[in-house]
Amino acid sequence: MIDLHAHTTCSDGTDSPAALVARAAELGLAALAICDHDTLAAYDEALPAAAAAGLGLIVGVELSLAFEPGTFHLLGYHLDRGSPELTSRLNEAQQWRAERNERMLERLAALGLPLDRSRLEDISGGGELGRPHVARALVEVGAVESIQAAFDRYLAKDGPAYVPKARLSAQDGIAAIHAAGGAAVLAHPYQLRLDDAALEAHVAACRRVGLDGIEVFYSQHNAEQIARYTALAERYDLVMTAGSDYHGTIKPGIALGQVPGPRPSDQALLAALAAAAERWR
Ligand code: AMP
Ligand code: FE
Ligand code: FE
Ligand code: ZN
Repeated sequence: MIDLHAHTTCSDGTDSPAALVARAAELGLAALAICDHDTLAAYDEALPAAAAAGLGLIVGVELSLAFEPGTFHLLGYHLDRGSPELTSRLNEAQQWRAERNERMLERLAALGLPLDRSRLEDISGGGELGRPHVARALVEVGAVESIQAAFDRYLAKDGPAYVPKARLSAQDGIAAIHAAGGAAVLAHPYQLRLDDAALEAHVAACRRVGLDGIEVFYSQHNAEQIARYTALAERYDLVMTAGSDYHGTIKPGIALGQVPGPRPSDQALLAALAAAAERWR
């Protein structure tokens, strides 16, 4: 088993980096990648913990790219944490996130739902603050019954409290990953909400600006989606990755390491991903 997409308290997951590594080691994962939103902060703690546990940990990240009307996330793998280009892109994304958060909280206050900042800091654990934290705070004040209801009613892209962040273009996001010697992978393609023809055109366009892979095996993909994305990977010579998008208790339906198949051997996937990154060194 491998899981190449998990979040920690450094973004919107609820396991600390060390706790996530411990959980992955306990499950006997052959490889783990932490792909926090807009930050590599987890690795200061996660890399030594993984080394001590004998766990293969791949340095990853998840970036939000400009796209409408669906969601376009890009994963980066085998990253050089010291890359000045990637660091500056992440700093910029964190700034955009902070500005968006301010405006989102203003919107909620205008809707009669002022949230306590220090409570939000507690919920986020000091990491990058995101909508799932705001959703949890809305549950706590009794505005909604569940985190999902908070998205459905307020925070989803078409919701009254939604405020868009500034985001990188596909070209710039992929270039930032490559500048750090990493492989760039299209995350959870179903979230783009494109029909077959539009998805193929999107993948082809991303491929032309250097996309290396596609997250075919994902906890929320059904068999038909997996078959379709596998065919796209083959057609466009993209590596395939497997990830759950585990976030801990903030997304209780998703378990670490639980990724549907059928898929090639984990060793084959890992070797192809490493080779894809190697091309950018
Ligand atoms: P942010 O980076 O702050 O925009 O928040 C992104 C996080 O919110 C990701 O973990 C998404 O999975 C989650 N998210 C986005 N839209 C929804 C939705 N409609 N329902 C549940 N979670 C969502
Ligand atoms: Fe998230
Ligand atoms: Fe994502
Ligand atoms: Zn994610």
